[in-house]
Amino acid sequence: MTTPRLEIDLKKVRHNTKWLVDCLELKGVSVMGVTKVALGSPDVARSMINAGVGSIGDSRIENIQRMHEADVQAQFILIRSPIISKIDDVVAFANVSFNTELETLQLLSKASQAQGKMHQVVLMIELGDLREGILPENLGAIVSQTLDLPNIRLLGIGTNLACLWGVRPDTEKMTVLTGLAKNLELKFDLKLEMVSGGNSANLPWLFGSEDTGEINNLRLGESIFLGCETLNRDPIEGLHVDAVSLVAEVIESKVKPSVPTGDTGQNAFGSHPGFSDGGVINHSLLGIGRQDVLVSGLVADSDSIEILGSSSDHMVVASKNERLRIGDEVTFQVDYGALLTAMTSPFVEKVYLNKV
Ligand SMILES: *Cc1c(COP(=O)(O)O)cnc(C)c1O
Repeated sequence: MTTPRLEIDLKKVRHNTKWLVDCLELKGVSVMGVTKVALGSPDVARSMINAGVGSIGDSRIENIQRMHEADVQAQFILIRSPIISKIDDVVAFANVSFNTELETLQLLSKASQAQGKMHQVVLMIELGDLREGILPENLGAIVSQTLDLPNIRLLGIGTNLACLWGVRPDTEKMTVLTGLAKNLELKFDLKLEMVSGGNSANLPWLFGSEDTGEINNLRLGESIFLGCETLNRDPIEGLHVDAVSLVAEVIESKVKPSVPTGDTGQNAFGSHPGFSDGGVINHSLLGIGRQDVLVSGLVADSDSIEILGSSSDHMVVASKNERLRIGDEVTFQVDYGALLTAMTSPFVEKVYLNKV
């Protein structure tokens, strides 16, 4: 095996998914497994499906196409509003898409008619985090027009919080969503199959609620991969927090001073790092850098290894105990940003462990 590499333990992914599916099921809430951070990896999607998710969500139609072509059997949901120039692919590969614009819905209807398909939509509602969403006062009008569109079926409504401004999906917000769902059902005499309350940041609300109202779905990505909720990044007891790790390799190992010599200006990334004098240190270079991963999202497994800095292609670490040797591997735990970037870097090998 080469480095840098991401190791994704699919047994732990399955465990985390199943734990969440079982826990949410007790409250009448289904899980949509979100695969975008894994770029729609068919192995990851299959692990989630084996663990009982009701559907697979991804924000990129390319990822959904990848899973479709790998013959993954699931209901595929595009959880970002369609890009107009890719609308034919949306209808071809996704069963459902999330939407907020009437114009896009009309184009989806046209594309669905041309392809002889029925496309389902979930309308996303703005509840204060100011990313995607129809303003609640405009919802009735859009629903009414959506219901008239040929080859389009309204599957439900949803909201997304905590992504841009960290707005908490609390009881108050979820009660608003429940109220909107009830109003629509009454006004248009219909049953909304999906009322999707949010993402991994909704878990604290869910764990603490006796009554989840009309909300019957959550879309979970980070909690499945990293075993935490996402408001405080607290680990969830019962979940693995180490399903994913990143492995890099030592390419230089020397004893060097801890303080640079010479007059200093900006570094390669425009900042002016500070330093403190710790005498000479075990100074190692790893063959990984910012073109591979968001280095600020990494923590070494070993307490004795400290990240001192990074540039495009190098990471510098200090090893407090013994000197590392060339070829030694160093393992890191990743946060969401590190996982996202490492998954997306073509230089990082992806290794799936414990496939079934
Ligand atoms: C990414 C995403 C999710 C999943 O969020 P996690 O924090 O990874 O659980 C849910 N919904 C939407 C709309 C998303 O874009």
